[in-house]
Amino acid sequence: MDEVTRRAMLAATAAGGVLTLASAADAQSAAPPPQPLRPGYGGTDPGPRNLERDRQNPDLLVPPPTDHGTLPNLRFSFSDAHMREETGGWTRQVTVRELGISKDLAGVNMRLNAGGIRELHWHKAAEWAYMLYGTARITAIDAQGHNFVDDVGVGDLWYFPPGVPHSIQGLNPDGCEFLLVFDDGDFDEDNTFLLSDWFKHTPNEVLSKNFGVPGSSFAHLPDPSELYIFAAPVPGPLESDKIAGATPVSSGFSHKMLAQQPIRTKSGSVRITDTSVFAVSKTISAALVEVLPGGLRELHWHPNNNEWQYYIEGQARMGVFAASGQARTFDFQAGDVGYVPFAMGHYIENTGSMPLRFLEVFKSSYYADVSLNQWLALTPPELVSAHLRLDVQAMAALRKEKFPIVPV
Ligand code: MN
Ligand code: MN
Repeated sequence: MDEVTRRAMLAATAAGGVLTLASAADAQSAAPPPQPLRPGYGGTDPGPRNLERDRQNPDLLVPPPTDHGTLPNLRFSFSDAHMREETGGWTRQVTVRELGISKDLAGVNMRLNAGGIRELHWHKAAEWAYMLYGTARITAIDAQGHNFVDDVGVGDLWYFPPGVPHSIQGLNPDGCEFLLVFDDGDFDEDNTFLLSDWFKHTPNEVLSKNFGVPGSSFAHLPDPSELYIFAAPVPGPLESDKIAGATPVSSGFSHKMLAQQPIRTKSGSVRITDTSVFAVSKTISAALVEVLPGGLRELHWHPNNNEWQYYIEGQARMGVFAASGQARTFDFQAGDVGYVPFAMGHYIENTGSMPLRFLEVFKSSYYADVSLNQWLALTPPELVSAHLRLDVQAMAALRKEKFPIVPV
């Protein structure tokens, strides 16, 4: 019996009541501890052990017998990342320092309270974002002097090309939370070009000359440590933040991903956003995948680049095939980051009782995948049979059309 169960039973006995299971979480904590054993192999784990983590990772504790070899770690949870708390919200990041294999993409998870501002700044990497919660106002300009101000909500994207200065601010009633993905695994959100930082590190007479005003105008600059993510009043309606006489950015830096018509099957849906529908997003393409309980993101791979994933809701396991007889399986839940190295075969299975939603993100201007099923259907049957010795039923079931989520 684990400690939580023991305490629950003692409390119930002390109250003279009967032990009842109030929730699924209680039921799970009362379940016998999972053990790293399968018929003929392994043994019990007498401890010490982290039982909660073992329960979250059934495929690490008892890997499928088809797993083999020494694939590197392909998962990191934002829950294990350092949290930076500021007056306007918080931020945490999963970069190459946390997830060593991800050299080309890094992620940031940020919360801005109502009115909270991510300080005006720019950086060398491109920034792609997915809104997870609430509403935000974003601002930017491009190098041609066009401006951009927009309000975004859940499921909306933005993309700021390298060097484009921008800001983000939480709106009423409860600010926002979002995911940022940068096209550089070494990206550090704590290391961006901040507006207040530059002012603080420029001689007063140079500021005076640059802006054509007396040096006394800059007597009240804040310390840069006060900003970064700071509390501020909630701005008025979007119209009130439009700049008179400004020319807007032509194709825009935001995109409504949920408004796209998805590819739909009986078991889920996929929305794909790349430069074909969101022209400005030249270095990042993405797919928003929904898999219903019992469904599977089919066996496939990507012919263009590595895949960086963010799990939005539900539970999943992913099996990755790395060639040379190597394969490894990982479990995921909301807030986890996953990774699939370039061209490795993989599947993602919904292992929970609720819908699974996650993002596939690529450092690429276009989205592309190769379906194992479609490949075999479009190959001469004798050739396929000579390899796999499939029976008549399996050969007849191969599909020439691509269905990303199965069963169809
Ligand atoms: Mn930024
Ligand atoms: Mn994939």
